[in-house]
Parts: sequence; structure tokens; C-alpha cells
Amino acid sequence: MNLFSLKMRASNSNTGYLSGAEKIVNKHELHTYTNALLHRALHHSKGAADEITMKVEPVQLSDIQRLEALPVKTVEVANHYEGIKEVKKLLLQLGLQQAEEIIEMLSSCSSMRGAILLDVDTMKRLEPDQERGIRATYMDANRSHFQEDLTKKNHFQEALVLATKVAHAPNVIGEICISDDPDYVTGYVASKEFGYVRITKLKQKGSHLGGRIFLYRHSESGVNETIAYLEKQKIVVDLGLSKRLNEAKQQDKWRKIKSDLASLQENHLYRSFNEIQTAQEAHVKMHDREYVMLASNSYLNLCNHPGVKSYALQMGEAYGIGSGGSRLTTGTTTLHRLLEEMIAEFKETEAALVFNTGYMANVGVISSLLSEGDVIFSDELNHASIIDGCRLSKAKTVVYKHNDMNDLEEKILAHSCENGLIVSDAVFSMDGDVVNLPELMRLANQYGLFSMIDEAHSTGVLGERGRGVCKYFQLTQKPDIIMGTLSKALGGEGGFVCGDKLLIEYLKNKARSFIFSTSLSPVTSASAIEALRLIMNDDTQVTKLQENIAYFNECLQAHGISARSNSAIFPIVVGSEQAALDASAKLFDHGYFISAIRYPTVAKGSARLRVSLMADHSKKELSEAAKLIKKYIGNV
Ligand SMILES: *Cc1c(COP(=O)(O)O)cnc(C)c1O
Repeated sequence: MNLFSLKMRASNSNTGYLSGAEKIVNKHELHTYTNALLHRALHHSKGAADEITMKVEPVQLSDIQRLEALPVKTVEVANHYEGIKEVKKLLLQLGLQQAEEIIEMLSSCSSMRGAILLDVDTMKRLEPDQERGIRATYMDANRSHFQEDLTKKNHFQEALVLATKVAHAPNVIGEICISDDPDYVTGYVASKEFGYVRITKLKQKGSHLGGRIFLYRHSESGVNETIAYLEKQKIVVDLGLSKRLNEAKQQDKWRKIKSDLASLQENHLYRSFNEIQTAQEAHVKMHDREYVMLASNSYLNLCNHPGVKSYALQMGEAYGIGSGGSRLTTGTTTLHRLLEEMIAEFKETEAALVFNTGYMANVGVISSLLSEGDVIFSDELNHASIIDGCRLSKAKTVVYKHNDMNDLEEKILAHSCENGLIVSDAVFSMDGDVVNLPELMRLANQYGLFSMIDEAHSTGVLGERGRGVCKYFQLTQKPDIIMGTLSKALGGEGGFVCGDKLLIEYLKNKARSFIFSTSLSPVTSASAIEALRLIMNDDTQVTKLQENIAYFNECLQAHGISARSNSAIFPIVVGSEQAALDASAKLFDHGYFISAIRYPTVAKGSARLRVSLMADHSKKELSEAAKLIKKYIGNV
């Protein structure tokens, strides 16, 4: 015996019936549910019960009939007159003309606990005991689909379970029900024919009118069978909603997705993958054809560097592939510590902390340092991960004009705050320009704000040995928070934050994207260590890249293209989405992989070709690229 029917009924000598409930539960749930129902009876809003009966009976699994819940529909109506009209329409669908009479009858059964069983052909009441009426019992919902809050009665769910049982009773063609609760004016009509139709107003507020009628259509000889089903058959109703409803919902649910995709396609904003068949180098193979890669973030060509690879593989042999846990549990290896020490050394800060991606670093840092009531001043062209960090922090985000320090100062003056942050990309990812960091720092100091820069595209690119934007400007004072990635010039993956020990200790304890994620693989940690070691000991790659940057500026100038850059990123703005795509396609035809960047990555109408350089590009490739770009962008 593993199943039990559990019924509770509570009453009060003054008010009479108070509340009732029934469940079909497993043996191990019996205690929980008994307690919950008892609690409900003792804490009823209408007062405490002074008599509670609890009936527990064993039930055989084979005795239980399973039913799919009726599909649910809600009809909104302005008033109960309109509501009654809806009832009439539904009853007509069941072939019943005498709706008025039936509704009239509802008012005569308010005092009954049970329902009227009405022969719809003769309009005769068939309940053996008219004081009591017919009580549909022994039913419950299948709880595998939802989490039940045991302390609360779910009226709607109980009504749906009951209506589903009634609709399946032999000889019953439908049901109509209005609650006798004067505050509850919604009622329903239900049948297998049209499901469970809630009508939002079926009586006036304050009215005690209410009751339930089961609509019976058969010769009287079937009455016993009907009553036996309603009063004795054990039913579990599957609330996973009916198939019909589910199918309709499935279609609905995907409709918006499909139309969104179609509209992306119409507007030339649809995205797809480029599948590359080789390692990420200055030349790659795609669709079995070779391309000059001018779109990669692997500025120093470290993605496929033999020394980096062999160290990473060797450390993979020693430490394994997975880290096995998050950093604060079991996922900190010696490699993780070494990597952080090296990043701090490279960036000349007290300490560093590695995140799994640059995205996670930005989101984690910003959302842990700032909170509601604080203010973040953010450049309008900042990376999406900064924007998401701002959103997650719940701080007020004030967006200032791109790299415009006057606008920034005005905004600071207009939004005074106790705790604030200025955050900016160091090199802007789609424009390639460098933040005015000296001025940004001056403002941060003057107004007592935190300063944060994202060095995703300046690490390995700007300044002596690619140490980044502080070296580029020869600053003595660093921003409070320096964030960067291991995934771009350093050729691997991961993000980092560096700064004072205090900052790092705080982030270790507070940054959720750091705490709640399995740490980087020992293999990727090792690859970053080796990549850093390389550029700290040997400036060949950084120097080559910086020379290529200078040379490509000359090439563009020679071809009359106005774009210039001090970083590895060159934006060649063409304007329309279509023009950018067309130019990019032509360049592909010539074997040059140059991406078209469109909305939403950049503003609408500022679509562009985005060229990014690598240390290993040859001068010939760069001048040829400039020539082809000129040819295909026309005179924009
Ligand atoms: C790429 C990028 C990031 C995210 O770094 P991932 O390591 O790729 O997650 C953050 N900020 C900027 C400016 C970026 O360009």
C-alpha cells in the first residue's frame, strides 16, 4: 500500500463549513500533507476550525484513472450580463436552448455543498438527496509537473481538477459553476467539447448567488453509474495541460522567434558562422580555400605558437584537462596562482585575478563593486560585457559621449553620488581608437570616483612590450581596476582583473561570475603563462605588430582612405548594412577575410569593414588589402 487518499474537512460551530481539501499522496508524503492540511484548517482566514475531520484511506494504483486536464480558456467580459451571454453561447454549443432556466437554477442551490445533477431534457433534478447534492471527490492533480505550495490552496487548480473529472463522468455533457464567495465573480462552464472556459464576471460583486450544476443527458437508468463515478472513482489529473492547448502554445511560442529571425534576414542582420578548417593564423583555410586573415583578435599570432602549444600540452599531461571545481573549492592549481602572479607582474600591479572569460570578468567586477544607489559613467561605445555588468549591478548607468571628457565631466557634475565608477574600453573594439586615459584619470581623481579600463584590445598591442594603455600614455598612476583578456593578443582564453590586493581580495569574495563557475582548464592557464613569458622576454611579435600598424596607416593614406588607428583595429565605415556586406563579400572573393560589422554591434547606419592586423601579416598583404578595400568601398 503506497498510495492514500487524504481528505480534510474543517468546520466551525458558528459559521459552519470552513474549508475542505483532498489529495492522493504517496506513503512518504502522507505526514507532510496531513500536517499541511491541518495547518490550513487551523489558520483559515474565516476563523479557526473547531472541528476537523481527516480521512485517510489506502488506494490501489490500479484503481486510479488518469485524465488530461481540460484545455483552459479565459473569456474577459465587461459585466455579468455579458458573462451570462457567453454562458448561453456555450450551452447552445452543447445543444441546450434553456440557458436562462439553468442559470436561474444556480441561485437555488447556494446552500448546498454538492451539485445539482440536472437532466437537461426534462429539467428534472436527479440527486437522490437534494439537501446534500452530488459531491465529486477522490481526485487530485499530478504533482510531477509543478512545485506545490502546501500552505496555500490553489483554487484554480482544484477547480480544473474537479471540472476535468466531471467532464469525463458518464452521461455528463457539461458543467456550470459560480462560486458562492461574494468577492469572487469569475465562474466557468466546462465540457469535453470546449474545455474549461473561465468567464471573468458571472455575478455581481457581493452576491451570495453561487452553485454548481452537472448537466446530465441520458435516460434515468444511467444515474447510478454517473453518481458512482463522481463520488467514488479515483482520478489523477495531469496538469501538463492538454495536448491541444500545448500544441497551440508551441506554435505561438515559436511564432515570434521565427518572425524575429525573418526580420533579421530582411534587414541584412542575420548572422551565421564561418567555419575555419585550420589554426588561427595570418592565413587560414575556409571552404577548402586559403584566406588572408584580417579579422582575428590573435594580434600576436600566439594561438598556434609552437612554444605556447608545447608548454600547454606538457602542463595538460601533468595537471589534466579539467580543473574539477570552482576557484574557491578545488579548482585552484599551482598554474592558476602562477598565471595570476605573472599577470600582476606584466601589468605592474599588486595582484591579479583570472576569470574564465573577459566577459565574465567585466560582469563580475562591475556587478560586485557597484550596487543600487551608485552611479556608473560609461562610454557609449563600451563593450557589451561592460554594459551587461552595469545592468546586473542595478546601479544607475549614465552613458557619456564617446571618449568625450567634457561630456563626461558635465555628466559627473549632474549626477552626484556617494559611490561611483568611470568605466571605458582602453581600445574601443569596433573603432580601434584609444581612450583619453590621462583626462579620464584626472576626472576620477577630482571627483573621487573609481576608474576602470578594459584592456581587451590594448594588452599585447599598446605600449612597450604590449603592456597596455598605461605604458602607452606613460602614466605613473594606474586606474583602480584594470581588466583584460587572455583571449586576444595572448591567443588563448580567459579574462583577468588587476589592481591593488584590496580589490582582488574583494573580488575573490564577491564577484559571482568568479565564484560560481568552474575555473579555467590547467591547459589554458598554462598557455597564457607561456604567452606572457614570451612577450615579457622577447619583444619581436609586439614590435612586428606595431610596425604593421604604422605601415597599414600609410597604405590607407596612399589609397585615399581616411581611417587611421593606433591599435590593431581599423574601422572603415561604409554606412549601410548592405554596402558593408557587399564589400566584405568581394574581399572574400579575392581571398581576404575582412568582417563586415553591423548593428547591433555598431550603431545603425555605421556599418563598417573592420580590419584587424596581426604581427605575421606581410607588407605585401597589407598594401594589397588596402588597395582592394579602396576598390570595393567606392568613395565613402
Ligand atoms: C572581447 C572583449 C571582451 C570579452 O572578452 P572574452 O575573453 O572574449 O570574453 C571584453 N571587453 C572587450 C572590449 C572585448 O573586446
